[in-house]
Amino acid sequence: MNVHSPQFKELRKKCFLRLLTMHYQSKVGHLGGNLSCLDILLVLYHTILKPEDVVVLSKGHSAGALYIALWSVGLITDEQLEQFHKDNTLLSGHPPASGIPAIAFATGSLGHGVGLAAGVALGKRLKKSPGRVFCLTSDGEWNEGSNWESLIFIQHQVLNQICLIVDLNGLQGFGSTNEIANLHPLDEKFKVFNMETVTIDGHDAQELNRELDKLSEKPRSIIARTRKGSGVSFMENRMEWHYLPLTEDQYNQAIQEISLQ
Ligand SMILES: [Mg+2]
Repeated sequence: MNVHSPQFKELRKKCFLRLLTMHYQSKVGHLGGNLSCLDILLVLYHTILKPEDVVVLSKGHSAGALYIALWSVGLITDEQLEQFHKDNTLLSGHPPASGIPAIAFATGSLGHGVGLAAGVALGKRLKKSPGRVFCLTSDGEWNEGSNWESLIFIQHQVLNQICLIVDLNGLQGFGSTNEIANLHPLDEKFKVFNMETVTIDGHDAQELNRELDKLSEKPRSIIARTRKGSGVSFMENRMEWHYLPLTEDQYNQAIQEISLQ
């Protein structure tokens, strides 16, 4: 799908609305980080992915955005979405270990997705299997040492099927990423690991499409600057939306704002 098309714009709106409704009906939080990465996932699933590619959602607390992206390409049903975060559901608050073929790994314990992606990439190489491996991380989870160990491995093996995407919204569970453990400049750190690195606007579908589509001799990392709570005025760049579920009034306002975009 062309990201400039009216169809993509409509699809985007439909997905943002459905994400808000799904979380509201299930009284689930984590909306801020889900909204910050939904544009990334929609461009990935609608314009980039091939059947042989693998996606690892390292920031597992954004499972809602992943489910919505999968639903929008027909890999999760309406009935399954209706069961989000309910008893005995397949669609829990973090991605499940099994039951949804498009989801390769249970994630949510942060700092593990990059290592999983590295293992998949090495496996593809050893089996001479085609396909790329996309791993979406948060920015806060780069506090985790296991990520940096994985970069040592990725560099050593030159796993150029890997494309890391950092949802750089500048916030994590307890405050601003710069105040808690400042990793700026993250792009320079990735370059030290011999990665091809670019920083883009993580809500610009054209930039996302262009950079996600690129192949390289080196492993790639895309630092996507985003806004936590993107698209909803009272949520944007506010840490508390890491946690809070929506009240009825907030839900109605959020729906109205997205509908007008
Ligand atoms: Mg963050």
